[in-house]
Amino acid sequence: MSVTLDLSRAAVPASAAKPLIELSGLTRPQLVAALTESGVVEHGKARMRATQLFRWMHHRGVTDFAQMTDVAKETRARLAERFTVSRPEVVERQVSKDGTRKWLIRMAPGVEVETVYIPSVGRVGALCVSSQVGCTLNCSFCHTGTQALVRNLTAAEIVAQVQIAKDDLAEWPSDKEDRLLSNIVFMGMGEPLYNLGAVADAIEIISDNEGIGISRRRITVSTSGVVPQLQTLGEKTQAMLAISLHATNDALRDELVPLNKKYPLDQLMAGIRAYPGLSNARRVTFEYVMLKGVNDSPDEARALVKLIKGIPAKINLIPFNPWPGTDYQCSDWATIEAFGAILNKAGYSSPIRTPRGRDILAACGQLKSESEKVRASALRKLSMAAMAGVLDDDEDEAAA
Ligand code: SAH
Ligand code: SF4
Repeated sequence: MSVTLDLSRAAVPASAAKPLIELSGLTRPQLVAALTESGVVEHGKARMRATQLFRWMHHRGVTDFAQMTDVAKETRARLAERFTVSRPEVVERQVSKDGTRKWLIRMAPGVEVETVYIPSVGRVGALCVSSQVGCTLNCSFCHTGTQALVRNLTAAEIVAQVQIAKDDLAEWPSDKEDRLLSNIVFMGMGEPLYNLGAVADAIEIISDNEGIGISRRRITVSTSGVVPQLQTLGEKTQAMLAISLHATNDALRDELVPLNKKYPLDQLMAGIRAYPGLSNARRVTFEYVMLKGVNDSPDEARALVKLIKGIPAKINLIPFNPWPGTDYQCSDWATIEAFGAILNKAGYSSPIRTPRGRDILAACGQLKSESEKVRASALRKLSMAAMAGVLDDDEDEAAA
């Protein structure tokens, strides 16, 4: 068993006033518990009040207790003493020529993440959310991988990315017709399965029908292959699974996705085959980044077909998005098409993911904030402080 350390909270000195609890990061059962514990809400009414508050936050998108007009004034004031329903600050907003939008969000001083809205993906449009600041896994072709991990995001910080996008897209109330934001993909910064507790809570909140109500079938979690967490991901979230495969043999995958040394392909494939709920209606998506002269030959396309045989799957071919300082190049278009044709012939749908938002560096694997890197010694100190406080039993190799 390992632990998740909530470093944001641990960083507050014991002498400081109790920090306000951000309510939008609580699932409805957690909200009931927080309200009951606080004593603000009358005994026996916590469930009803929790649903009321949940609807204000996630159905209406309000950011102030004062706007919750069906809650008594006195109760609102008491809630505001203990809790908050605010948003983190958007420090930069960019809109691409193709409609892609990118927000740089400051969660705390020195803790910044990027969130990207991509129109015309899924039913209408997908929001690509981050689960960590930076990433501990150094995939050789990924820009985020060059940034050290600062910390895991909390559930509130993951939900806030969705709320901020909805603010900007004018998507409140959540049951508005013709919604632009229909899908969520955990394909921003970070490895979601190294922050599974917060990711699972965020998914529960985002999919709750009293609030944002995006169905779990429209929420996809992409992982580089943290095999021991796959089962828990499926059981806890029922989210759609995407696997960043990128290579069909261990030697090459060790190089591209170094986590492969820990969980090699045979273990990964076995983990995927056992993913809860996998069926023709709920296929796994294999992501395969097209790197010129590295993994893009017809032989490799055939090896891919062989490797995933029998698994209900789609394959996403991602043209490599170059970033300053990388030696990799994107495969030629004809090579990508030839690769795709072999997959199609074998019966797999293999759309080539058109790069979006390239002009604002918003495409896959290009997200990288200027967040300060925390030195290992400082991180250890914070971890020690956190040990004394908040612990739970999620995987967190990141902060170890
Ligand atoms: N850490 C998770 C999710 C975030 S990365 C994961 O690795 O799956 C989202 C996707 O973008 C992954 O498939 C990743 O391999 C891919 N990616 C990373 N860098 C890229 C780049 N420069 N060009 C194209 N795709 C990239
Ligand atoms: Fe991390 Fe995913 Fe980038 Fe690999 S591809 S470094 S796991 S964000």
